[in-house]
Amino acid sequence: MYQVSNVKKTTFPSKEVLLLTVRGRDLPGITSRLTSLIAKDKKAKILDIEQTVVHKKLLLSILLGFPGKNSDKSPLLKDLLFAAKEIGVDLGFEVFDPKLLGEENTHHQYVITCLGEEVGAYPLSEITSSLARRGVNIDKISKLALRNISAVELIAHAKKPVDPKLLTRELLSLSNEIGVDIAIQKHDLLRRSKRLVVMDMDSTLVQSEIIDELAKEAGVLKKVAAITHEAMNGKMPFSKSLKKRVRLLKGLNIEDLDQVYRRLKLTKGASKLLKVLKHLGYKIALVSGGFTYFTERLKRDLGFDYSFANQLEIRAGKLTGNVIGPIVDASRKALILETIAQGEKISLDQTIAIGDGANDILMLTKAGLGIAFQAKPIVREKAHYSISKHSALDSILYLLGISEREIESLSR
Ligand SMILES: [Mg+2]
Repeated sequence: MYQVSNVKKTTFPSKEVLLLTVRGRDLPGITSRLTSLIAKDKKAKILDIEQTVVHKKLLLSILLGFPGKNSDKSPLLKDLLFAAKEIGVDLGFEVFDPKLLGEENTHHQYVITCLGEEVGAYPLSEITSSLARRGVNIDKISKLALRNISAVELIAHAKKPVDPKLLTRELLSLSNEIGVDIAIQKHDLLRRSKRLVVMDMDSTLVQSEIIDELAKEAGVLKKVAAITHEAMNGKMPFSKSLKKRVRLLKGLNIEDLDQVYRRLKLTKGASKLLKVLKHLGYKIALVSGGFTYFTERLKRDLGFDYSFANQLEIRAGKLTGNVIGPIVDASRKALILETIAQGEKISLDQTIAIGDGANDILMLTKAGLGIAFQAKPIVREKAHYSISKHSALDSILYLLGISEREIESLSR
């Protein structure tokens, strides 16, 4: 059982603060040796401590507070310097302004995720200078991918608040130019507390537009693909385009649908994304302007919690060319997202929507995190975040702050 003791909140009494920095080859026992010396000194108090080890190099910084300007610090500093020399690390100290203590807490913090084939020197220089021009200052940079630099995360702060969604969209043209997707989010608890993912099917979860595949079977591909293209680019109302296309599929039989299902290829990274999300307890939903015949089978095969789509009318094993019930179009997709969230008692802030077509835009803008995945230009412009051709579907995990190392340890 845990007990919370009665700790009184006290204001920090230190009159003098020193910043101690230790650099060198990382070995076991360095922090323990130095902190035990500080512990022996009755006047010194650790106010803050941070340590990182990168490529076997240690960087340890400690803020040490002393009760008065005249406290005798020299015995402790001598001991620390002596110990550092013995261990073989560099130790330096400088006076730190106590007024700066805790100042970071008043800043607005952001996390910037950069995804690309290689987030190298050129993209990094462009991204960081663009952020600097907007008064965003970088605190920490880490690599999320394990073996290459295809995913890099920057933690940054700004004195004045910036709208992360607006800034992400502003950086869209830079993103196109340098071939790296950039997403900016507030660095807060909400980012890592997403609980529902709603995903489109065609050209998002699966590589093709299923209706075009059905049209191939029916020998009307050219006609249907032209209408699909217009609809997905927002040039024809979705429900009108759907009815038009389904009419052309009249006469197809169940075996043809089964053939198409067996041919389907999942988008690269899809199984990994779903596996990790399920493992972490996310609810996952497949919401499609396609057909229930496919969404229901995918739901069963991949473990989705929900699936919604349009129902093809089938009589005597053949498509009649009609759709039954209300059509799942853009506004219905957004409504389904809201309804599932409500039913699961999940706030919209904690939802993620992923899609590529014009009929996904409403759902993407409604979700806490709306991700245009390898999407049409009209969708990329409207969504909060955009993932382009060079990243797989599982790179969405990086946007949630999940590193490849964490993903691999999960699968182990
Ligand atoms: Mg789609």
